Amino acid sequence: MKYKYCAKCQRSYIRSRLEGDRCIYCGTDCETIDVKRNGLYYFGYTLMLIGAASVLIPRFMTVTGPSLFVYTGIAVVVAGAVFVVMGSTKMAKTAEEMALSEEKE
Ligand SMILES: [Zn+2]
Repeated sequence: MKYKYCAKCQRSYIRSRLEGDRCIYCGTDCETIDVKRNGLYYFGYTLMLIGAASVLIPRFMTVTGPSLFVYTGIAVVVAGAVFVVMGSTKMAKTAEEMALSEEKE
């Protein structure tokens, strides 16, 4: 996952392919840092997949109270999304720390 860290704005964010190496906020050149996806991120994605699968279960089986699967599934997908956001926030923080420690050397 590529992150950018701008020393001028003191903020890190996910680098999108459309942008160059310039900061999207102030336009100065900034560092690109490669951060490994962390456990929270993967955990969130797994939850989202499980939730999505749960929503689909009633379509393949005639179970009693299929809405239970749907509501639980949606709740699990939402919870998964929260973990993904938490994971991304943590990775942005890691990118920032990495950029700052590089500057000190
Ligand atoms: Zn900036």
